[in-house]
Amino acid sequence: MPKARLFAPGPVPVHPDVLAALARPVLHHRTPEFRALFGRVRAALAEVCEVPGDDVLLVSGSGTSVFEATLLASVPAGGRVVALTGGVFGERWASLARRFGFDVRVVDVPWGRAFDPQQVADELRAGPAPDAVTVVHSETSTGVLHDVAAIAAAVRSVAPDALVLVDAVTSLAVAELRPHSWGLDAVVSGSQKGVRLPPGLGFAWLSERAWARVPDPSARVPTFSLDLHAERPKQRSGDAGATPPVSLVVAAEVGLAQLLAEPAPARWAAKERRNRALLAAGTAIGARAFAERPSPALAALTTPDGLDAAAVVHALAGRGVRIAGGQQHLKPTLLRPSALGDVDGYDVVLLAAALEDAFRDVGARVPYGAATAAALAVLDEARA
Ligand SMILES: *Cc1c(COP(=O)(O)O)cnc(C)c1O
Repeated sequence: MPKARLFAPGPVPVHPDVLAALARPVLHHRTPEFRALFGRVRAALAEVCEVPGDDVLLVSGSGTSVFEATLLASVPAGGRVVALTGGVFGERWASLARRFGFDVRVVDVPWGRAFDPQQVADELRAGPAPDAVTVVHSETSTGVLHDVAAIAAAVRSVAPDALVLVDAVTSLAVAELRPHSWGLDAVVSGSQKGVRLPPGLGFAWLSERAWARVPDPSARVPTFSLDLHAERPKQRSGDAGATPPVSLVVAAEVGLAQLLAEPAPARWAAKERRNRALLAAGTAIGARAFAERPSPALAALTTPDGLDAAAVVHALAGRGVRIAGGQQHLKPTLLRPSALGDVDGYDVVLLAAALEDAFRDVGARVPYGAATAAALAVLDEARA
């Protein structure tokens, strides 16, 4: 068995100190000790979300469940939702909204392209004003970082009452995200990606106007266990509606402290540089960057003509290196390696070396050191 190395855009490798915290004795959740811990973790999360002092709710579940909870908490039954798609996750929020009977209109962009804020404004102008617009910040299926700041401004200019609900599942802690100054109404994320914890926790921050949007929420929100209106007052006093995943909360305190030890702009810059090193490694061996506006969370790379991406992913797995391949129609052509999680510059060089080897495994002629040299050259910018 080769050593298992995780280089996917979630779940991600977790620091040993965080894993060790998972092994501590289980706490009871209705205790002063746990309530204090819960408060500290929510405060740390608010800092990671760049909304210090605000309420961030912590929910057991995945990013998907928290997006569902957020939509239900902020859009009245039957409300109009415009879903900006352009990838698997954008489309997921459209499907989710349809499932709950919202009136959904899709605004699409070809996969790999970034939304033009002007196009978003024009599309909104062409239809009835929506209650909410869903947008994915870092679309993990295509590797695109959508310009949420400009998109939110475009939404405000045309439909000032529309809430802007942001999927920040792979962007939180990795890409600049400023909910207040960008005028966002919800930021939703999960534990197993940019915040580099194990899977199992979801996070949501909502703006005050989003909280106010659903009147008489307890009667109208069609969910019980994911009712954020019921959770909010409980979480403010250190409780949760149901048993929280206490061990994950214990581990989160350790992991979030590690994240916050580095100032956010330095953290964003380091992740961007490592991801650019991966893109450089891939292009040095004949792949092409797929995303028009690359997310720092993953390197979406189209394989050279004739090279089967699924075979490359398989060859890497045989070498103990797990990356993500393409989803849906991109499966034969797209590679999605990622430096998310507890991954440093030398890990990126190792991944570049593994990519080279896997390309050779499937028959590509790649000079030794091409990918690693390209990665090192980008990483060396940090020396300046
Ligand atoms: C992973 C991911 C999700 C889904 O998160 P889960 O925790 O798997 O539910 C949603 N959006 C984006 C952009 C993602 O990368």
